Amino acid sequence: MSKKDIFKKKLLSWSIKNTREYSWRSTQDPWKILLLEVIAQQTQLDRANKYYQKFIKKYPNPNEMSKATKKEILGMWSGLGYNNRAVRLHEASKILSRNSFDSIYPEFDILPGVGEYTKNAILSFAYNDKVITQDTNVLRVFGRFFGTKDPKKFILENQKNILKNIKSRKFNQVLMDFGSEICTSKNPSCNICIFDNECKKFIQVKQNPKPTFKGSDREIRGKIIKHLIINKNVDISSLNIVIETQENRLKRILKKLESEGMITIKNKKLIEISS
Ligand code: SF4
Repeated sequence: MSKKDIFKKKLLSWSIKNTREYSWRSTQDPWKILLLEVIAQQTQLDRANKYYQKFIKKYPNPNEMSKATKKEILGMWSGLGYNNRAVRLHEASKILSRNSFDSIYPEFDILPGVGEYTKNAILSFAYNDKVITQDTNVLRVFGRFFGTKDPKKFILENQKNILKNIKSRKFNQVLMDFGSEICTSKNPSCNICIFDNECKKFIQVKQNPKPTFKGSDREIRGKIIKHLIINKNVDISSLNIVIETQENRLKRILKKLESEGMITIKNKKLIEISS
């Protein structure tokens, strides 16, 4: 099985028990998708969902929103921040009240506030086009798993192949959930991840584990210097008791500190910070 097939297969089986359920995830209505995507920008998904429910109830289609005043829209938006997102959405609704989504397909980025990501989200979630939505979570997962420095380019070159025989809407949802729950930006959960040696990042971390500070030479050096700042002319033999490490190791570290000019050892016995 190719690496891309493993990636796809394992993610899809992970999704069986881990997909987050939201009403808009099952819709193919492009207006609902646009609304959700604009609200969800820079907003945590559960919070975005609450606003989405409120908006979709009041403005079930672009026509309804186009009739509202800017003041009404901003009132509904209150608390979400980045008010110009609301203003652009309102402008988009006016265009969409005159032109259907189908009539502007696939050029949704002609709508105010619709960039590449939102355009791809509509193409995938409403039209099931073979595109991978490239939000930060998705780019991170691709970058790490395939070990590519340019995940955007990699996705563009491989998305048709990866999405062969599967619904892009489903796969994009899985990628987003996986990126925000497992392959997180800080401290990814590699220990419980469905991937191990298939993932480039996993292999790199395994081969070059981050040195732990506790018990390291670095920690001992720090302790020595701290001790010498407080005490002058410290007897080497007493250092063992304070630092609690093997004699040979201590000697090696002291020698290194001396060669770096950090400390001075007098008569092989007394040490102090170099002047
Ligand atoms: S092994 Fe780690 S880096 Fe690789 S996909 Fe899983 S969580 Fe991300």
